[in-house]
Amino acid sequence: MLLRLSSLFVLASASMAIQAASPADTGPLPMPRSGGGWEARQAPGFYRFRLGAFRITALSDGTAPRDVSKIMSNPSAVRESYAAANLALPIEISVNCYLIDTGERRLLVDTGAGELFGPLTGQVVANLRAAGYEPGDIDDVLLTHIHGDHSGGLSIGGQRVFPNATVYVDQRDPALWLSAAAEAKASPGARNTFRQSHQTVDPYVAAGRLKTFDGATQLFPGIRAVPLYGHTPGMSGYFIESEGQRLLLWGDIIHASEVQFRAPGITIDYDVDRAGATATRLRILAEASRRGYLVGGAHLTFPGIGRVRAEKTGFSWVPEPYSVTLGK
Ligand SMILES: [Zn+2]
Repeated sequence: MLLRLSSLFVLASASMAIQAASPADTGPLPMPRSGGGWEARQAPGFYRFRLGAFRITALSDGTAPRDVSKIMSNPSAVRESYAAANLALPIEISVNCYLIDTGERRLLVDTGAGELFGPLTGQVVANLRAAGYEPGDIDDVLLTHIHGDHSGGLSIGGQRVFPNATVYVDQRDPALWLSAAAEAKASPGARNTFRQSHQTVDPYVAAGRLKTFDGATQLFPGIRAVPLYGHTPGMSGYFIESEGQRLLLWGDIIHASEVQFRAPGITIDYDVDRAGATATRLRILAEASRRGYLVGGAHLTFPGIGRVRAEKTGFSWVPEPYSVTLGK
């Protein structure tokens, strides 16, 4: 009897322990009793690594929470992919920019959302400064495309954020987003993108600091634009190459990594040309997996640096191992 009572007691304590533990497992992290540096935000978001003789700094502009099942072409497949990964929607999608310091020039690939997307984004300048650079240090801004979360950080309050920079973009994007005729034909919902484009790109046009290129173009030594058309008419990637090491900054090839690596045919409502975006995604995923070069993605979880692996079905993402020594 004594034995039975004590085993019941053990069982009861075990179940109480489990019950007591579960709310803490799912609830917010406990606050430190005092101090401890705990604040409402992350530490500055930058991550440095070497690429040959170049220094690359991934800069976080913040995150954009999105229920991607509501803005993608196959909602049930999207929901299933996130559920299978035990991830809840909406999910916070990273907005990443990349600084390339060649030793000769400092180039910024994309600028984040500036003041367009609310307080969770628009962090790129703070993170640039935390990484030891000033906006005035930027010689060139390379836009993968004109969309609020890539070109929005160019200007704040109508003023150029990067006063010494020339902005480069494939001519097909300003031909659409800065065109009064195209804006007049656009649906009311799409007009917002036209307004935002004028708001943030026009100050550089007025200053004579917008330069366009046409397709594949060697812009600077070690820096080459490559057409990735579809998501927007002029979306471009930038191949960064130094001492035989290669990095492709591919803009919006992937918005939802839990879905689009495995099923590249799933598109997002922001694609101007869904079929074109899919064809480009398939082509570049196949090439990146075959050639094994590094990739940086604007919406892959920060710092968004890694490689693509071919799978039996589709592809997968292999994040670059974290390095405290900035790599080789
Ligand atoms: Zn975009």
